[in-house]
Amino acid sequence: MPAGTDDRMIGGLRHNGDDMLDAKLLSLNQVTLMPCSLEDVVAAMGRHGVPAISIWRDKLHECGLAKARKLLESEGLAVSGLCFGGLITSPDAGEAAKAMDEVRRAIDDAAAVEAGCLVFVAGGVDPRDKDIRATRARALDRVAELVPYARAAKVTLGLEPLHPMICATRSVVSTIGIANDWCDALAAEDVVGIAVDTYAVWWDPDLETEIRRAGKRICAFHISDWLPDTQDLRLDRGMMGDGVIDIPCIRRMVEAAGYAGHREVEIFSARNWWKQDADEVIRIVKERYQTAV
Ligand code: ZN
Repeated sequence: MPAGTDDRMIGGLRHNGDDMLDAKLLSLNQVTLMPCSLEDVVAAMGRHGVPAISIWRDKLHECGLAKARKLLESEGLAVSGLCFGGLITSPDAGEAAKAMDEVRRAIDDAAAVEAGCLVFVAGGVDPRDKDIRATRARALDRVAELVPYARAAKVTLGLEPLHPMICATRSVVSTIGIANDWCDALAAEDVVGIAVDTYAVWWDPDLETEIRRAGKRICAFHISDWLPDTQDLRLDRGMMGDGVIDIPCIRRMVEAAGYAGHREVEIFSARNWWKQDADEVIRIVKERYQTAV
């Protein structure tokens, strides 16, 4: 019997042999409340006692770094991650140089808010060369080039494998296996880790093996669900418990591998959750954190 199939929810209560999850390890990725400013998200989190946030750079810049730092400090929020840096796969040298500079600015931002990691999204395949092998090799070389900068800034690059459906546009790192291969090649364990996102990797037949192989490399754990009737492959993620992913099972895998950090709720949902009231979304996130994570 595969691990996790003994999980059952009875009357919304956890009934899988686990204790209540530590509320201190809940983090909210602000994309879950996409329409809100950073100021509004931080205030809402304060009202509900959510202790950690993952920040998007555009929202951070809208707010301004100095003000953001003050806000985070006044609410005592930990920053589990900054989203995101990367998109460094261009075959054009000039474009690549620009993209690399942008990643360095993202590293600076991550350092400024003391983010647990900079979520790193490699970039897609360019129609000008249609060469996925060369693209992966190029991107890996460029990550290696960024390592000294990240190390000097004391910022962990969290390589985030993304679902192969967005390999063309977002990331040629489609599995934890590829991320592990990159980590092996980079040999920079102090500054390069892996961000495991349930929505991106749940389908992978090698998931358990590769999570075990990742071990202490895991620097972030992102959670949301895959809706069986999904309408949009990127922007229709589900709330934990509403879809087909056995999230408690994957959580136990990352924890068995040695990860003990935040469980970050990251729900891109143009169809549903972005239209809901922020307080209601957070209330449900907190409830599902205990019943479906
Ligand atoms: Zn993610």
